[in-house]
Amino acid sequence: MDRITPTLPPIREVIARHGLSASKALGQNFLLDEQLLDRIAAIPGPLQGKPVLEVGPGPGGLTRALLRAGARVTAIEMDPRCLPALAELDEAFPGQLRVIQGDALAIDPATLFEEPYVVVANLPYNVGTALFTGWLSGQEWPPRWASLTLMFQLEVAQRITAAAGDSAYGRLAVLAQWRSAAKLAMKVHRSAFTPPPKVMSAIVHVTPAEMPGGVSARMLERVTEAAFGQRRKMLRQSLKALPGAVDALDALGIDPVRRAETLSVAEFVAIARVLSNG
Ligand code: SAM
Repeated sequence: MDRITPTLPPIREVIARHGLSASKALGQNFLLDEQLLDRIAAIPGPLQGKPVLEVGPGPGGLTRALLRAGARVTAIEMDPRCLPALAELDEAFPGQLRVIQGDALAIDPATLFEEPYVVVANLPYNVGTALFTGWLSGQEWPPRWASLTLMFQLEVAQRITAAAGDSAYGRLAVLAQWRSAAKLAMKVHRSAFTPPPKVMSAIVHVTPAEMPGGVSARMLERVTEAAFGQRRKMLRQSLKALPGAVDALDALGIDPVRRAETLSVAEFVAIARVLSNG
């Protein structure tokens, strides 16, 4: 039997009724277009009955789209002013929504779920990037999250999904791609937000992949930090301070006159593997 989707007031009206004037300090740029929100909620794939972590629900535009898709949503929101609006969604979708008020940076999502969960978030840039690098740097692999669907500034989304040789390619791309698949799922025009931010946005979708064997995450970080720390320099110069790294280039047949931005993610992994075992 089809689920009956409750009729909800427009988000614009919810914002007005609860006096949710956008706070700049909390990076509040709200999405109001329900069709766009349904398209965003569809990016992770079918959500019927699935646990979803939403960070920064605000007045609940994306939250209601996730609930409509049948997800069981746990939402972490910093701004207490948003709680009454979210309580209305809880009433409209009984048993599907749990709201936690707090700073997502201080809450370990692993404590909130007993099974793999999908992450969906439209967050301020600094919070989103900090959470993203944390989720990708975990010791445990595969991680507890089954996928990440996150809104970023377009420029950051391009840095996450860049390939070797792209001008946006750097440490973030290697971190996002060495044991995950990361794709730019949708560009979102600044005019879709209220108030509109200064720059364009895009949604990145990340799924965990198999972790290459014999590589320490910390060593890979050290290699990319050294290589991209001096990205215009040849590898034989930029990797000089990392013991054994220039010898590793030789052993792997990687030309030491190349620059960091020309090395594929697999080549960075190979260097880190030699050093992890050395
Ligand atoms: N999800 C809503 C939407 O798409 O319209 C709101 C998006 S708005 C860009 C970001 C939301 O994240 C705001 O509601 C803000 O209060 C919340 N937020 C900001 N920092 C946060 C943090 N550290 N932890 C949890 N929520 C945060």
